[in-house]
Amino acid sequence: MPMVPRQRPAAEAPASLTQAGPRPSGDCPDCGSERVTALTMTLTDGTPVDFASCHNCEHRHWSHEGRSLPFADVITRATKLKV
Ligand SMILES: [Zn+2]
Repeated sequence: MPMVPRQRPAAEAPASLTQAGPRPSGDCPDCGSERVTALTMTLTDGTPVDFASCHNCEHRHWSHEGRSLPFADVITRATKLKV
């Protein structure tokens, strides 16, 4: 039996898969560019939203559970506690 150096278990996921994951928000709804920075934030009223900013056309949008939120709605939710 030849001596072979220990190798990483084959069951271990490739590094590329660990970064794929579910895409919170896809392409820019305005210009279709994939150069979109997406991050999740929580509004003041506790609503988790995905914020996306397009590097191509500087379009910005918020979405909640896959549905886009109008900017006015985001502001309304973010200022709800001030009532
Ligand atoms: Zn865009």
